[in-house]
Amino acid sequence: MLDTLIFAGQVIVPKSNGAALRGTQMNELSFIDNGAVGIKDGVIAFIGTAEEAAQLQAKEKIEAEGKLLSPGLVDPHTHLVFGGSREHELALKQQGVPYLEILAQGGGIHSTVKATRETAEDALYKKGMFHLNRCLTYGVTTMEAKSGYGLDKETELKQLRVAKQLNETHPIDVVSTFLGAHAIPENYKGRPDAFLEEMLSLLSVISKEGLAEFVDIFCETGVFTVEQSKVFLQKAKTAGFGVKIHADEIDPLGGTEMACEIGAVSADHLVGASKEGVRILGESDTIAVLLPGTTFYLGKDHFAPARDMISSGAAVALSTDFNPGSSPTENLQFIMTLAALKLKMTPEEIWNAVTVNAAFAIGRGDVAGSLEIGRRADLVLWDVPNYKYIPYHYGVNHVNKVWKNGKLVVGKGDIHANYTLST
Ligand SMILES: [Zn+2]
Repeated sequence: MLDTLIFAGQVIVPKSNGAALRGTQMNELSFIDNGAVGIKDGVIAFIGTAEEAAQLQAKEKIEAEGKLLSPGLVDPHTHLVFGGSREHELALKQQGVPYLEILAQGGGIHSTVKATRETAEDALYKKGMFHLNRCLTYGVTTMEAKSGYGLDKETELKQLRVAKQLNETHPIDVVSTFLGAHAIPENYKGRPDAFLEEMLSLLSVISKEGLAEFVDIFCETGVFTVEQSKVFLQKAKTAGFGVKIHADEIDPLGGTEMACEIGAVSADHLVGASKEGVRILGESDTIAVLLPGTTFYLGKDHFAPARDMISSGAAVALSTDFNPGSSPTENLQFIMTLAALKLKMTPEEIWNAVTVNAAFAIGRGDVAGSLEIGRRADLVLWDVPNYKYIPYHYGVNHVNKVWKNGKLVVGKGDIHANYTLST
């Protein structure tokens, strides 16, 4: 006897095959029209057609013939834990005040660092909970969360501890990344190497307390060079961490090439990746995590060369880059629309990029991003007739229900049980 049996007009069953999908594989999306998925003891116990499911016994049957059922979405790049917000900077941006001037006025990342340092751990936890709840209502069941708004030992650890606590108490699985090398703090101005040493000195405690699986660095003009990033990430790798990189967001510095060379799990942003970088990406196992919401929100016209990447044979994932400055949104569905319009990705590629490939980009390819018998049941039921509809009908939330580990955690229009939105 199954616990729950869900009938849907279409069921997306992305293939995982033990690795991220790359190149032309990304355009293949498996689905079952008039399908059904059964859950027992929190895991998927049946996947098949409605016809095959007709005789199955279940404690609860959900008839959703007009709707779409998919794996829970995976958001592989977020800056979830932070203090404050920066809505006042929107007017400055409209007036054309350059980001560097906003920074000089104490705004930009510095204002978030100040607010994060000043916010107590329990308040950061509550704020993180609020955002996680929203992610869940938008269909995300697994996501990554970076530190990087402390830029000092104490606050970086505080952010990571909050992320760990959120992972333990919220239905969403939160995978932690240490991004202490996010920017150079005021007191280390002109001494980036000394600051990187300071951040590296945290790795032993992060490792001992199980506070992060990945280490990331912001490799960009005026922040950390490719060479500094390489040395930093290699040390993190030696210490047992998976590595990621914010690379070539603005200028083609060669961060993409370096990420592939050192075997980074993912290289993220890549708007300015060079032709050679794109070619090397296609031959590497490094996953390109693209963040078109950030390009959109920064008001830029030039987006990451997703088509070139896929043509070169690369694996592409998509993410919100949720953060208080350059991408204040938890809405991965909107990112799917931007991927269609601005990255020219097909609906099939987009779905693979927010499920299978996103899961592999954060080391969760074996448990998240796909539907397989015996896997935990992370499912989303959507108020849409087919998978192509979500990138098309934009800006709204199409989620009808979300199950995490087989448990219903979001129902129509609200969050179930203990997971209420609070400010
Ligand atoms: Zn980021």
